[in-house]
Amino acid sequence: MISRNPCLANIKAGYLFPEIAKRRREFAAAHPEAKIISLGVGNTTEPILPHINRGLVEGARQLGTVTGYSGYSDEGLLSLRERISQVFYRGRFKADEIFISDGAKCDIGRLQLLFGAGTKVAVQDPSYPVYVDGSVLIGAAGTWAGTGYQGIRYLPCTAENRYFPDLSLLPPNGLFYFCSPNNPTGTTATREQLSALVNAALQKGTVIVFDAAYSEYIRDPALPKSIFEIPGATSCALEVNSFSKSAGFTGVRLGWTVVPQELVYAGGEKVNADWSRICGTIFNGASNIAQAGGLAALETEGLKEIQELTDFYLGNARLIRATLQNLGISCVGGDNAPYIWAQFPGRDSWDVFAEILETCQVVSTPGAGFGPAGQSFIRFSAFGHRPEVEEACERLGRLAKIPMR
Ligand code: PLP
Repeated sequence: MISRNPCLANIKAGYLFPEIAKRRREFAAAHPEAKIISLGVGNTTEPILPHINRGLVEGARQLGTVTGYSGYSDEGLLSLRERISQVFYRGRFKADEIFISDGAKCDIGRLQLLFGAGTKVAVQDPSYPVYVDGSVLIGAAGTWAGTGYQGIRYLPCTAENRYFPDLSLLPPNGLFYFCSPNNPTGTTATREQLSALVNAALQKGTVIVFDAAYSEYIRDPALPKSIFEIPGATSCALEVNSFSKSAGFTGVRLGWTVVPQELVYAGGEKVNADWSRICGTIFNGASNIAQAGGLAALETEGLKEIQELTDFYLGNARLIRATLQNLGISCVGGDNAPYIWAQFPGRDSWDVFAEILETCQVVSTPGAGFGPAGQSFIRFSAFGHRPEVEEACERLGRLAKIPMR
Protein backbone atom coordinates (compact mmCIF):
# COMPACT_ATOMS: atom_id res chain seq x y z
CA MET A 1 0.00 0.00 0.00
CA ILE A 2 0.99 3.61 -0.50
CA SER A 3 2.53 5.35 2.54
CA ARG A 4 0.88 8.22 4.32
CA ASN A 5 2.44 11.68 4.01
CA PRO A 6 4.42 11.68 7.30
CA CYS A 7 3.61 15.38 7.82
CA LEU A 8 -0.02 14.46 8.44
CA ALA A 9 0.98 12.64 11.60
CA ASN A 10 2.42 15.90 12.96
CA ILE A 11 -0.88 17.78 12.80
CA LYS A 12 -2.40 18.18 16.23
CA ALA A 13 -5.19 15.70 16.87
CA GLY A 14 -8.52 17.36 16.04
CA TYR A 15 -8.48 20.80 14.54
CA LEU A 16 -9.77 23.30 17.11
CA PHE A 17 -13.18 24.12 15.65
CA PRO A 18 -14.24 20.54 14.86
CA GLU A 19 -13.32 19.71 18.46
CA ILE A 20 -15.50 22.56 19.75
CA ALA A 21 -18.35 21.45 17.46
CA LYS A 22 -18.00 17.90 18.82
CA ARG A 23 -18.20 19.09 22.42
CA ARG A 24 -21.20 21.25 21.55
CA ARG A 25 -22.97 18.24 19.96
CA GLU A 26 -22.24 16.11 23.01
CA PHE A 27 -23.62 18.80 25.33
CA ALA A 28 -26.75 19.23 23.16
CA ALA A 29 -27.32 15.47 23.15
CA ALA A 30 -27.07 15.37 26.95
CA HIS A 31 -29.25 18.50 27.38
CA PRO A 32 -31.83 18.46 24.58
CA GLU A 33 -33.76 21.34 26.22
CA ALA A 34 -30.76 23.72 26.18
CA LYS A 35 -30.87 26.68 23.78
CA ILE A 36 -27.18 26.94 22.98
CA ILE A 37 -25.81 30.27 21.72
CA SER A 38 -22.48 30.38 19.94
CA LEU A 39 -19.93 33.09 20.57
CA GLY A 40 -17.37 30.58 19.46
CA VAL A 41 -16.45 30.54 15.82
CA GLY A 42 -15.43 33.43 13.57
CA ASN A 43 -18.19 32.78 11.06
CA THR A 44 -20.24 35.79 9.96
CA THR A 45 -23.99 35.74 10.60
CA GLU A 46 -25.59 38.80 9.01
CA PRO A 47 -26.98 38.97 5.45
CA ILE A 48 -24.87 40.51 2.73
CA LEU A 49 -25.99 44.13 2.36
CA PRO A 50 -28.05 45.16 -0.71
CA HIS A 51 -25.55 46.97 -2.94
CA ILE A 52 -22.93 44.25 -2.58
CA ASN A 53 -25.56 41.57 -2.98
CA ARG A 54 -26.77 43.19 -6.21
CA GLY A 55 -23.19 42.98 -7.46
CA LEU A 56 -23.18 39.23 -6.85
CA VAL A 57 -26.58 38.77 -8.52
CA GLU A 58 -25.51 40.86 -11.49
CA GLY A 59 -22.28 38.84 -11.75
CA ALA A 60 -24.32 35.66 -11.99
CA ARG A 61 -26.74 37.23 -14.50
CA GLN A 62 -23.88 38.32 -16.74
CA LEU A 63 -22.69 34.74 -17.01
CA GLY A 64 -25.95 33.89 -18.79
CA THR A 65 -25.29 36.37 -21.58
CA VAL A 66 -23.03 36.13 -24.61
CA THR A 67 -21.35 39.47 -23.98
CA GLY A 68 -21.10 39.12 -20.22
CA TYR A 69 -19.88 35.52 -20.09
CA SER A 70 -16.37 34.94 -18.75
CA GLY A 71 -14.30 31.85 -17.96
CA TYR A 72 -11.10 31.43 -15.98
CA SER A 73 -9.72 34.66 -14.59
CA ASP A 74 -6.39 33.29 -13.29
CA GLU A 75 -4.90 35.95 -11.02
CA GLY A 76 -8.18 37.90 -10.91
CA LEU A 77 -10.08 40.57 -12.79
CA LEU A 78 -7.81 43.45 -13.68
CA SER A 79 -10.48 45.95 -12.58
CA LEU A 80 -10.69 44.33 -9.13
CA ARG A 81 -6.94 44.24 -8.67
CA GLU A 82 -6.66 47.89 -9.62
CA ARG A 83 -9.53 48.84 -7.33
CA ILE A 84 -7.99 46.96 -4.39
CA SER A 85 -4.76 48.85 -4.94
CA GLN A 86 -6.62 52.18 -4.92
CA VAL A 87 -8.90 51.49 -1.95
CA PHE A 88 -6.46 49.76 0.39
CA TYR A 89 -3.00 50.86 -0.74
CA ARG A 90 -3.48 54.35 -2.20
CA GLY A 91 -2.68 52.95 -5.64
CA ARG A 92 0.94 52.09 -4.79
CA PHE A 93 0.78 48.50 -6.07
CA LYS A 94 0.52 47.54 -9.71
CA ALA A 95 -2.15 45.02 -10.66
CA ASP A 96 0.51 42.32 -11.10
CA GLU A 97 1.40 42.62 -7.41
CA ILE A 98 -2.17 41.82 -6.29
CA PHE A 99 -3.48 38.27 -6.65
CA ILE A 100 -7.18 37.59 -6.17
CA SER A 101 -7.88 34.45 -4.15
CA ASP A 102 -10.76 32.35 -2.92
CA GLY A 103 -10.00 33.55 0.60
CA ALA A 104 -7.14 34.37 2.94
CA LYS A 105 -7.01 30.93 4.52
CA CYS A 106 -6.60 29.21 1.15
CA ASP A 107 -3.74 31.52 0.25
CA ILE A 108 -2.10 31.09 3.67
CA GLY A 109 -2.09 27.34 2.97
CA ARG A 110 -0.74 27.73 -0.56
CA LEU A 111 1.91 30.32 0.41
CA GLN A 112 3.90 27.63 2.14
CA LEU A 113 4.76 26.25 -1.29
CA LEU A 114 6.94 29.30 -1.93
CA PHE A 115 9.38 28.32 0.79
CA GLY A 116 8.96 24.56 1.08
CA ALA A 117 9.97 21.93 3.60
CA GLY A 118 12.70 22.88 6.02
CA THR A 119 11.61 26.49 6.40
CA LYS A 120 12.00 27.90 9.89
CA VAL A 121 8.60 29.23 10.90
CA ALA A 122 7.52 31.38 13.83
CA VAL A 123 4.03 32.39 14.83
CA GLN A 124 2.52 34.66 17.40
CA ASP A 125 1.38 32.60 20.35
CA PRO A 126 -1.62 32.44 20.43
CA SER A 127 -2.34 32.41 16.71
CA TYR A 128 -4.86 31.47 14.03
CA PRO A 129 -4.33 27.69 13.65
CA VAL A 130 -3.73 27.50 9.88
CA TYR A 131 -0.33 29.21 10.18
CA VAL A 132 0.88 26.27 12.25
CA ASP A 133 -1.01 23.46 10.58
CA GLY A 134 -0.18 24.70 7.07
CA SER A 135 3.50 24.84 8.01
CA VAL A 136 3.40 21.36 9.51
CA LEU A 137 1.77 19.99 6.36
CA ILE A 138 4.52 21.35 4.13
CA GLY A 139 7.13 19.78 6.40
CA ALA A 140 8.67 22.79 8.13
CA ALA A 141 11.66 21.09 9.73
CA GLY A 142 13.61 21.25 12.96
CA THR A 143 12.16 20.78 16.41
CA TRP A 144 11.31 23.68 18.64
CA ALA A 145 11.08 22.60 22.25
CA GLY A 146 7.82 22.42 24.09
CA THR A 147 5.39 22.96 21.24
CA GLY A 148 4.64 19.44 20.06
CA TYR A 149 5.27 20.71 16.54
CA GLN A 150 8.24 20.37 14.29
CA GLY A 151 9.73 23.49 12.87
CA ILE A 152 7.37 25.98 14.43
CA ARG A 153 8.43 28.46 17.04
CA TYR A 154 5.77 30.05 19.21
CA LEU A 155 6.50 33.65 20.22
CA PRO A 156 4.44 34.35 23.35
CA CYS A 157 2.10 37.33 23.16
CA THR A 158 0.78 37.93 26.63
CA ALA A 159 -0.52 40.72 28.83
CA GLU A 160 3.10 41.19 30.04
CA ASN A 161 4.39 42.14 26.57
CA ARG A 162 1.15 43.88 25.51
CA TYR A 163 0.46 41.00 23.13
CA PHE A 164 3.46 41.84 20.98
CA PRO A 165 6.29 39.29 20.65
CA ASP A 166 9.96 39.52 21.53
CA LEU A 167 11.43 40.33 18.11
CA SER A 168 14.83 38.88 19.01
CA LEU A 169 13.12 35.50 18.56
CA LEU A 170 12.26 36.03 14.87
CA PRO A 171 13.65 33.15 12.80
CA PRO A 172 16.66 34.36 10.79
CA ASN A 173 16.07 33.75 7.07
CA GLY A 174 12.73 32.20 8.00
CA LEU A 175 9.05 32.99 7.95
CA PHE A 176 6.96 34.85 10.53
CA TYR A 177 3.18 34.98 10.53
CA PHE A 178 1.76 38.13 12.04
CA CYS A 179 -1.94 38.96 12.32
CA SER A 180 -3.27 42.43 13.11
CA PRO A 181 -6.01 43.05 14.21
CA ASN A 182 -5.33 39.77 15.86
CA ASN A 183 -7.31 36.61 15.94
CA PRO A 184 -7.69 35.44 18.69
CA THR A 185 -6.57 38.25 21.04
CA GLY A 186 -8.45 41.10 19.33
CA THR A 187 -5.43 43.36 19.85
CA THR A 188 -4.04 45.57 17.07
CA ALA A 189 -0.37 46.42 16.59
CA THR A 190 0.61 50.09 16.75
CA ARG A 191 2.65 51.84 14.08
CA GLU A 192 5.69 51.76 16.39
CA GLN A 193 5.34 48.03 16.93
CA LEU A 194 4.98 47.32 13.21
CA SER A 195 7.96 49.55 12.43
CA ALA A 196 10.04 47.56 14.93
CA LEU A 197 8.79 44.32 13.34
CA VAL A 198 9.74 45.44 9.83
CA ASN A 199 13.16 46.64 10.96
CA ALA A 200 13.85 43.34 12.74
CA ALA A 201 12.67 41.34 9.71
CA LEU A 202 14.91 43.35 7.37
CA GLN A 203 17.90 42.80 9.63
CA LYS A 204 17.31 39.06 10.05
CA GLY A 205 16.19 38.22 6.53
CA THR A 206 12.80 37.12 7.85
CA VAL A 207 9.77 37.21 5.56
CA ILE A 208 6.57 38.41 7.26
CA VAL A 209 3.25 36.97 6.19
CA PHE A 210 0.96 39.75 7.36
CA ASP A 211 -2.65 38.69 7.82
CA ALA A 212 -4.91 41.74 7.60
CA ALA A 213 -8.22 39.85 7.42
CA TYR A 214 -9.73 42.13 10.08
CA SER A 215 -8.30 45.46 8.90
CA GLU A 216 -11.76 46.90 8.20
CA TYR A 217 -12.54 46.66 11.91
CA ILE A 218 -9.90 49.22 12.81
CA ARG A 219 -11.57 52.38 14.07
CA ASP A 220 -8.59 54.09 15.69
CA PRO A 221 -7.10 56.19 12.84
CA ALA A 222 -3.62 55.95 14.42
CA LEU A 223 -3.49 52.17 13.90
CA PRO A 224 -2.05 50.85 10.60
CA LYS A 225 -4.41 48.74 8.49
CA SER A 226 -1.63 47.29 6.35
CA ILE A 227 2.01 46.33 6.89
CA PHE A 228 2.73 48.33 3.75
CA GLU A 229 2.08 51.55 5.67
CA ILE A 230 5.49 50.87 7.21
CA PRO A 231 8.60 51.94 5.24
CA GLY A 232 10.69 48.99 4.09
CA ALA A 233 7.85 46.46 4.30
CA THR A 234 7.75 45.83 0.54
CA SER A 235 11.19 44.19 0.83
CA CYS A 236 10.27 41.82 3.66
CA ALA A 237 6.51 41.19 3.69
CA LEU A 238 3.57 39.88 1.81
CA GLU A 239 0.02 40.52 2.92
CA VAL A 240 -3.14 38.44 2.80
CA ASN A 241 -6.61 39.93 3.12
CA SER A 242 -10.18 38.92 2.60
CA PHE A 243 -13.74 40.05 1.95
CA SER A 244 -14.97 37.46 4.47
CA LYS A 245 -15.21 39.49 7.64
CA SER A 246 -15.76 42.90 6.03
CA ALA A 247 -18.41 42.17 3.38
CA GLY A 248 -19.76 38.93 4.86
CA PHE A 249 -18.16 36.75 2.17
CA THR A 250 -17.22 33.83 4.45
CA GLY A 251 -19.35 31.58 2.24
CA VAL A 252 -18.89 33.49 -1.02
CA ARG A 253 -15.07 33.12 -0.85
CA LEU A 254 -12.96 36.04 -2.01
CA GLY A 255 -9.66 37.47 -0.83
CA TRP A 256 -6.35 38.74 -2.11
CA THR A 257 -2.63 38.57 -1.52
CA VAL A 258 -0.15 41.35 -2.18
CA VAL A 259 3.29 40.15 -3.24
CA PRO A 260 5.49 43.20 -3.92
CA GLN A 261 7.95 43.06 -6.80
CA GLU A 262 10.72 44.09 -4.36
CA LEU A 263 10.35 40.91 -2.32
CA VAL A 264 13.17 38.53 -3.27
CA TYR A 265 14.67 35.27 -2.00
CA ALA A 266 18.25 34.82 -0.82
CA GLY A 267 19.24 34.05 -4.44
CA GLY A 268 17.67 37.28 -5.73
CA GLU A 269 14.74 35.59 -7.54
CA LYS A 270 11.41 37.40 -7.28
CA VAL A 271 8.83 35.87 -4.94
CA ASN A 272 6.13 37.52 -7.07
CA ALA A 273 7.07 35.49 -10.16
CA ASP A 274 6.88 32.24 -8.21
CA TRP A 275 3.55 33.15 -6.66
CA SER A 276 2.18 33.85 -10.12
CA ARG A 277 3.46 30.46 -11.22
CA ILE A 278 1.96 28.68 -8.21
CA CYS A 279 -1.43 30.36 -8.71
CA GLY A 280 -1.41 29.38 -12.37
CA THR A 281 -0.40 25.82 -11.55
CA ILE A 282 -2.69 24.81 -8.67
CA PHE A 283 -5.36 27.51 -8.56
CA ASN A 284 -7.54 28.57 -11.46
CA GLY A 285 -8.72 31.84 -9.96
CA ALA A 286 -11.56 32.98 -7.76
CA SER A 287 -15.19 32.69 -8.82
CA ASN A 288 -16.09 35.46 -11.25
CA ILE A 289 -19.43 35.89 -9.43
CA ALA A 290 -17.55 36.49 -6.17
CA GLN A 291 -15.29 38.96 -7.97
CA ALA A 292 -18.32 40.89 -9.27
CA GLY A 293 -19.48 41.07 -5.64
CA GLY A 294 -16.02 42.24 -4.61
CA LEU A 295 -16.09 45.03 -7.18
CA ALA A 296 -19.48 46.16 -5.85
CA ALA A 297 -18.09 46.05 -2.30
CA LEU A 298 -15.35 48.47 -3.28
CA GLU A 299 -17.69 51.02 -4.86
CA THR A 300 -18.64 53.98 -2.66
CA GLU A 301 -21.97 52.39 -1.71
CA GLY A 302 -20.31 49.05 -1.00
CA LEU A 303 -17.65 50.63 1.20
CA LYS A 304 -20.46 52.27 3.23
CA GLU A 305 -22.01 48.83 3.65
CA ILE A 306 -18.67 47.39 4.82
CA GLN A 307 -18.55 50.13 7.43
CA GLU A 308 -22.16 49.41 8.46
CA LEU A 309 -21.60 45.66 8.76
CA THR A 310 -18.35 45.92 10.69
CA ASP A 311 -19.94 48.60 12.95
CA PHE A 312 -22.69 46.11 13.72
CA TYR A 313 -20.26 43.38 14.81
CA LEU A 314 -18.19 45.91 16.76
CA GLY A 315 -21.45 46.82 18.56
CA ASN A 316 -21.77 43.15 19.57
CA ALA A 317 -18.14 43.18 20.69
CA ARG A 318 -18.78 46.19 22.94
CA LEU A 319 -21.71 44.40 24.61
CA ILE A 320 -19.66 41.27 25.29
CA ARG A 321 -16.67 43.18 26.55
CA ALA A 322 -18.78 45.36 28.87
CA THR A 323 -20.49 42.25 30.25
CA LEU A 324 -17.18 40.58 31.02
CA GLN A 325 -15.67 43.70 32.51
CA ASN A 326 -18.72 44.13 34.76
CA LEU A 327 -17.98 40.67 36.08
CA GLY A 328 -14.44 41.75 36.91
CA ILE A 329 -12.97 39.57 34.15
CA SER A 330 -9.90 41.13 32.60
CA CYS A 331 -10.09 41.28 28.80
CA VAL A 332 -8.62 42.92 25.71
CA GLY A 333 -9.83 43.35 22.13
CA GLY A 334 -13.28 44.16 20.86
CA ASP A 335 -12.54 47.80 20.03
CA ASN A 336 -10.77 47.40 16.67
CA ALA A 337 -11.50 43.70 16.19
CA PRO A 338 -14.47 41.34 16.48
CA TYR A 339 -12.84 39.22 19.20
CA ILE A 340 -12.57 39.62 22.95
CA TRP A 341 -9.81 37.80 24.78
CA ALA A 342 -10.77 37.14 28.39
CA GLN A 343 -8.40 35.97 31.07
CA PHE A 344 -9.25 33.42 33.76
CA PRO A 345 -5.97 33.36 35.71
CA GLY A 346 -4.74 29.98 36.84
CA ARG A 347 -7.51 28.05 35.07
CA ASP A 348 -7.37 25.59 32.21
CA SER A 349 -9.09 27.14 29.22
CA TRP A 350 -10.87 23.92 28.14
CA ASP A 351 -12.26 23.67 31.70
CA VAL A 352 -13.50 27.25 31.55
CA PHE A 353 -14.98 26.54 28.10
CA ALA A 354 -16.86 23.55 29.56
CA GLU A 355 -18.08 25.56 32.53
CA ILE A 356 -19.35 28.39 30.35
CA LEU A 357 -21.19 25.83 28.22
CA GLU A 358 -22.68 24.12 31.29
CA THR A 359 -23.56 27.28 33.19
CA CYS A 360 -24.64 29.62 30.38
CA GLN A 361 -25.19 27.32 27.39
CA VAL A 362 -22.83 29.63 25.52
CA VAL A 363 -20.14 28.26 23.21
CA SER A 364 -16.82 30.09 23.41
CA THR A 365 -13.34 29.15 22.19
CA PRO A 366 -10.69 27.88 24.61
CA GLY A 367 -7.55 29.96 24.29
CA ALA A 368 -5.27 26.93 24.56
CA GLY A 369 -6.52 25.85 21.12
CA PHE A 370 -4.59 28.79 19.64
CA GLY A 371 -1.26 27.95 21.27
CA PRO A 372 0.38 27.43 24.67
CA ALA A 373 0.14 31.14 25.64
CA GLY A 374 -3.64 30.93 25.18
CA GLN A 375 -3.93 28.72 28.24
CA SER A 376 -6.27 30.31 30.83
CA PHE A 377 -7.86 32.54 28.18
CA ILE A 378 -11.20 32.34 26.40
CA ARG A 379 -11.94 33.94 23.05
CA PHE A 380 -15.42 35.39 22.57
CA SER A 381 -16.47 36.11 19.00
CA ALA A 382 -18.73 39.07 18.15
CA PHE A 383 -20.24 37.30 15.14
CA GLY A 384 -23.89 36.72 16.01
CA HIS A 385 -27.41 38.08 15.68
CA ARG A 386 -27.97 40.93 18.15
CA PRO A 387 -30.81 39.32 20.17
CA GLU A 388 -28.72 36.19 20.65
CA VAL A 389 -25.64 38.18 21.65
CA GLU A 390 -27.78 40.11 24.14
CA GLU A 391 -29.16 36.91 25.58
CA ALA A 392 -25.67 35.39 25.73
CA CYS A 393 -24.47 38.45 27.63
CA GLU A 394 -27.32 38.14 30.09
CA ARG A 395 -26.46 34.48 30.65
CA LEU A 396 -22.75 35.25 31.01
CA GLY A 397 -23.80 37.10 34.16
CA ARG A 398 -23.98 33.64 35.75
CA LEU A 399 -20.22 33.37 35.33
CA ALA A 400 -19.75 35.17 38.60
CA LYS A 401 -20.87 31.90 40.18
CA ILE A 402 -17.85 30.07 38.76
CA PRO A 403 -15.36 29.67 41.61
CA MET A 404 -12.11 31.35 40.66
CA ARG A 405 -8.87 29.95 41.99
N1 PLP B 1 -7.11 35.03 8.72
C1 PLP B 1 -7.62 35.10 9.94
C2 PLP B 1 -6.81 35.72 11.01
C3 PLP B 1 -8.88 34.59 10.21
O1 PLP B 1 -9.37 34.67 11.45
C4 PLP B 1 -9.62 33.99 9.19
C5 PLP B 1 -10.93 33.40 9.42
O2 PLP B 1 -11.41 33.24 10.50
C6 PLP B 1 -9.04 33.94 7.92
C7 PLP B 1 -7.79 34.46 7.72
C8 PLP B 1 -9.75 33.23 6.82
O3 PLP B 1 -10.29 34.11 5.93
P1 PLP B 1 -10.99 33.59 4.61
O4 PLP B 1 -12.43 33.40 4.92
O5 PLP B 1 -10.76 34.71 3.64
O6 PLP B 1 -10.34 32.33 4.19
